[in-house]
Amino acid sequence: MGRKRVFLGSVATESNTFSPLRTDLRDFRDSFFAPPGLHPATPTLCSAIYPVARARADDLGWTLIEGTATWAEPGGIVNQHTWELLRDQLLGELRAALPVDIVLLGLHGAMVSQDCLDCEGELIEAVRAIVGPDATIGVTFDPHSHLSEKRVKNADLITVFKEFPHTDFVKTAENLITLVSRADAGRITPVISTFDCRMIELLPTSREPMRSFIDRLKAIEGTGDILSVSVVHGFMAGDVPDLGARVIVITDNARGTGDALAKRLGMELFSMRGRTRPDFLTPGEALDRALAARAGPVVIADVWDNPGGGVPGDSTIILREMLARNIENAALATIWDPVAVRTCMSAGEGARLRLRFGGKMSPDGGEPVDATATVRRIAPAAVQSFGSSVVPLGDSVQIGVDGIDVILNTVRSQVFNTDVFRNLGIDPANKDILVVKSTNHFHDAFSRIASEILYAAVDGPYPNNPATNGYRNLSRKIWPLENNPHGL
Ligand SMILES: [Zn+2]
Repeated sequence: MGRKRVFLGSVATESNTFSPLRTDLRDFRDSFFAPPGLHPATPTLCSAIYPVARARADDLGWTLIEGTATWAEPGGIVNQHTWELLRDQLLGELRAALPVDIVLLGLHGAMVSQDCLDCEGELIEAVRAIVGPDATIGVTFDPHSHLSEKRVKNADLITVFKEFPHTDFVKTAENLITLVSRADAGRITPVISTFDCRMIELLPTSREPMRSFIDRLKAIEGTGDILSVSVVHGFMAGDVPDLGARVIVITDNARGTGDALAKRLGMELFSMRGRTRPDFLTPGEALDRALAARAGPVVIADVWDNPGGGVPGDSTIILREMLARNIENAALATIWDPVAVRTCMSAGEGARLRLRFGGKMSPDGGEPVDATATVRRIAPAAVQSFGSSVVPLGDSVQIGVDGIDVILNTVRSQVFNTDVFRNLGIDPANKDILVVKSTNHFHDAFSRIASEILYAAVDGPYPNNPATNGYRNLSRKIWPLENNPHGL
């Protein structure tokens, strides 16, 4: 038997359809863009299939044909021309690679373009049409995605990050590749069962009840006919028909078992609604508690101004509150402001200048801050890490504003790791208060240095209440828009 021909592709972003931002090709190039064969050795969140497949290709007898891999930081709706260009580029690379036995796709699953509410469904369907019914198609998704019928129908295997924070993105790619190789060899016949939980909720796995739920899912995998179990959390900032949580169970040709398990787990998840979010404080409450803490650093997450959810990340609301209280020995990462960064770079390290920054993209982010700032550190093309992944921040600066160190950046990114501070010349362990823009991805790294972690919610930047978001494309009954969507 000859070597198998395996094509890889990755086009990924998360589209917040409520965001004042728009996404085009430049955003993909700014965040991550690897032409065929040029994917780095390190994985990105959605392209971990590349390094994992490379590592296992010889053992599996695979010849890899790598297509383009690209990722844009979550933002607004994708420009239609950009989506068509990225889609057709990948499909062209696939056609040129024919014949192929296997296609592996690293997708996010919440991309929306101007004319398409299900970009990934459209892509997987087109891939299936090109490779035919006999090739095996395997896909990884982020759980903050929308699971459409089109995706389930055209893919053979789907694995989804189980953890939020997504600390298991490499593991998810490994699981997919193991299952795909077994399916291709005819050792398993994967059948996908899904269950629509009919709910929109935030489901962090760093706390109960989700922690135990996910641990149980992992224990079920590999028992009997159960090959894989995943939870799609859904992405509440995407106004699409398939919005909401779903459970995916993949069995070895055991439809009845899979359907029953998906329903049982899905209803269990539904029963957790309203109990999965951390306690959210107001910024004032969070700062009061941080100031009263005996030991530092207290980490405060600005949960809704999280660029990882597609908002601009230039809100000044918590910073203004800190300045009003004359808080000292504190640091904040990050405020997205390319114009202010440019000005600080022109001024140079050590310069003291009048600077207006933040609060530019919408009224929801508060007013810009006008302050006398000291440019403490200039870091061209700065980065932070997320597991083994390297995340760009673009040209960045650390400025001192009264007693607060503020990082301004040019490539939008949520905070993943404490090195976001260290790379800009701040020792986070020595601060009393650290403010990070992130909903939960910061949690793993910061829990190692934090005396306490607080979640501060500022209404406005992010459509965080599904009941009042005003979805126009949602037609299913779904909680919390409906109290009893399953009609029980
Ligand atoms: Zn996610």
